[in-house]
Amino acid sequence: DHVANQIAAGEVVQRPASVVKELLENSIDAGASQIKLLVKDAGRTLVQVIDNGKGMSTTDARLSFERHATSKINSADDLFALNTKGFRGEALASIAAVAHVELKTKTEGEEVGTQIEIEGSVIKSQEVCATLQGTSIAVKNLFFNIPARRNFLKSDSVELRHIIDEFQRVALAHESIAFMLYHNDSELFNLPIANKRQRIVGVFGPKTNEKLVPVTEETEIVDIDGFIVKPEFSKKTKGEQFFFVNDRFIKHPYLNHSVSAAFDGLLPDRARASYFIYLKVDPKSIDINIHPTKTEVKFEDEHAIYTLLRAAVKHSLGQFNI
Ligand code: ADP
Ligand code: MG
Repeated sequence: DHVANQIAAGEVVQRPASVVKELLENSIDAGASQIKLLVKDAGRTLVQVIDNGKGMSTTDARLSFERHATSKINSADDLFALNTKGFRGEALASIAAVAHVELKTKTEGEEVGTQIEIEGSVIKSQEVCATLQGTSIAVKNLFFNIPARRNFLKSDSVELRHIIDEFQRVALAHESIAFMLYHNDSELFNLPIANKRQRIVGVFGPKTNEKLVPVTEETEIVDIDGFIVKPEFSKKTKGEQFFFVNDRFIKHPYLNHSVSAAFDGLLPDRARASYFIYLKVDPKSIDINIHPTKTEVKFEDEHAIYTLLRAAVKHSLGQFNI
């Protein structure tokens, strides 16, 4: 019911950037190779994601707004071997509870697509429409029915920063997908399909290229891949710290410490190490279900990964005579 939807929405949808994250992840799960993000007024008036993924049938489109309607989990076992980003089936229901949502979608086999409008969990219209294969979800007037939430939002520059952070995290984790981001009709990012180094450079600018040193290590329990930023470029800034586990951005202070430990003595005073580290582990050996926004992960072999990561970073630093 509507009240339950609104309460749950509070957990999933904290600000426009939460909508961005959920919609981008759905597009990735749908197998899109191109994802466009359109934002107006730092997401207050519009967050729209357009993808060329597999789309939804009319029935699935209708179901997608129901709480716990996920097409991604079939059994309890699946919960422990997650290959998709979504699995709770509450993002769209939560977003639709607190915004005006317009969905347009079409599968490959269908002649015409489906268009659904929903406002505060109430379906306003459902029609057939002409559209390309894929899905467009426009989220307008976020928190129109929760003034307290709306007033709690920060300045446009802060909200836009959060949106860009989410966009960058997702784009860095999926270099084989093309991403675009527009804000108020100006293009902020246009990232073609790339390799990891090209994607990092695409996100942070051409000067980044010479700063990157590769890190790679394959072991029984973890595959490590990615780049560290040469310490000479870390000048009293907070730097950029990115960890990805199985293509998902995570925050992990303990592993962060592992990389810092490898840099010990090499960084300028008060500078922090910068890095883009991609870890691959058996999905069964991690627990990502500890928070609805899913940026925290628990590893089975935390200590071993710490040690392996520190060694791998040290090895790269040595290899490049740093
Ligand atoms: P979850 O991602 O946890 O399954 P969501 O509420 O985010 O839950 O989405 C509900 C369902 O809607 C998904 O399981 C999927 O079947 C469908 N869906 C959502 N977004 C898309 C999309 N961009 N393309 C295709 N299907 C989608
Ligand atoms: Mg989802």
